[in-house]
Amino acid sequence: MQLLFSSLKLFEVHHLKNLLEAEGIRCHIKNELLSRLAGEIPFTECAPQLWLLDERDLDRAKQVVADFGRSAPATPPWQCPDCGEALEGQFSACWHCGALRPESR
Ligand SMILES: [Zn+2]
Repeated sequence: MQLLFSSLKLFEVHHLKNLLEAEGIRCHIKNELLSRLAGEIPFTECAPQLWLLDERDLDRAKQVVADFGRSAPATPPWQCPDCGEALEGQFSACWHCGALRPESR
């Protein structure tokens, strides 16, 4: 299996899975339940992940993921309220201390 996408926002992972399945591409979500523990264990270890089941679909799947990325609204960089780390907009949690971005709390 091939990892396609990972996000702490479970709805994004589900939305992308729906888009892929609409194209006939089979995929599987890992860590769906673990994401509820975000904040208690490092978020990089519990973010929901979307895995491709058949690598023959990889090129088409990458295209769907790229289109999905472009359609998502751009998120501005932000600063962690807990430790002050500067973070890029695509991160929904601080890589340094694991705090969630304020508007996603
Ligand atoms: Zn932080």
